[in-house]
Amino acid sequence: MGGAPIFIERASGAYVFDADQNRLIDYVGSYGPAILGHAHPTIAGALAEQARLGFSFGAPTALEVELAEMIGAAIPLAEKVRLVSSGTEAGMTALRIARAATGRPGFIKFDGCYHGHSDALLVRAGSGALTLGVPDSAGVPEALAALTQVAPWDALAVVERYFSADEKRVAAIIVETVAANMGVVPASADFIRELGAIAHRHGALLICDEVITGFRLHYGAAYDLVGATPDLMMLGKIIGGGMPIGAVAGPAALMDLLAPTGPVYQAGTLSGNPLSVRAGLETLKILAQPGQYERLEESGARLERGLRKALAETGVRGCVNRAGSLLTLFLGVERVSNAEEARKADTAAFTRYFREMIARGIYIPPSQFEAMFISLAHTEDDIDLTIAAAREALAELKQTR
Ligand code: PMP
Repeated sequence: MGGAPIFIERASGAYVFDADQNRLIDYVGSYGPAILGHAHPTIAGALAEQARLGFSFGAPTALEVELAEMIGAAIPLAEKVRLVSSGTEAGMTALRIARAATGRPGFIKFDGCYHGHSDALLVRAGSGALTLGVPDSAGVPEALAALTQVAPWDALAVVERYFSADEKRVAAIIVETVAANMGVVPASADFIRELGAIAHRHGALLICDEVITGFRLHYGAAYDLVGATPDLMMLGKIIGGGMPIGAVAGPAALMDLLAPTGPVYQAGTLSGNPLSVRAGLETLKILAQPGQYERLEESGARLERGLRKALAETGVRGCVNRAGSLLTLFLGVERVSNAEEARKADTAAFTRYFREMIARGIYIPPSQFEAMFISLAHTEDDIDLTIAAAREALAELKQTR
């Protein structure tokens, strides 16, 4: 976005405060975990209490079992849960299980989806890789990248073609249940479900990456909302309440391949640490209360309506994609349904829009290719102020074109 990066000093509820003491309404939300808003008193209190009991033991705790059971109660697929320290590790581990289970080396991912920064997954990757124009990272050996086949988002026929060309090469299809790393791009209704059917017809697994969508769109996994049947799933972000976490979850038959029960090695010094687990547990308890996701949906719908109106009133070309409390305003394009269309967005205009929004006290993700994350701390007033700022920012853009 140019200019000096914004250094955040503290955050509370829907707001972040930068080092110059500006208060900004925050839609980055730590890129997903802060669904309750920042420094929620219950979570902060629980963390302080937990910290007095020790930070990390290298031995089991009842807390991690409790978190795994809470996840399992909300997500039937999660018969067993392995806690790791990041979404990246969840992706690495899920792939390793899939390779061990099928005896096949490769997998299929989608252009613009991001599954963390492990070598084989940094091929046509979204998120920062897309923003910085390095979808295929340097430092990834050709031999590893070659194991990854990339299909356009929503393109079932391409996936079928990969399987018919060489079925025995594909261990798994890995997919974001709602794409949120090329900006928000929901799939067409049957896409995720059909991916499961195709994978299973060809003896491969479906891995749903729910690092963003898990407990974001309802109290559970988003694959449930589209009737898909993945074999493994990845979680992260919200289940750690803002502390480092990731998880792989699935049926015992697959999860028992993991060491020490099975031959697939995985470990982590800080994995399942009591601070992350406690923050996650307390977060899920609050999210389980009635009405939370209805409120998130209302806030998302209010912001979507307001931004669409602001586009119409200012005559700026753009469109809004949304899934619940995840939203992206794309500039310069009228529709975005895959990464190719997302790449056509006017990133120069977005940079200007970002700066105009910051000047008006609104902190949105500094990239055209990320989601805005709405939290339970955002009030109607916060959303209305955001819409008013957006209208002004867009009018400014129109004027100085
Ligand atoms: N998968 C998805 C869908 C993500 O959005 C991210 C991070 N934004 C990851 C995986 C990687 O998670 P982490 O940054 O915790 O390694």
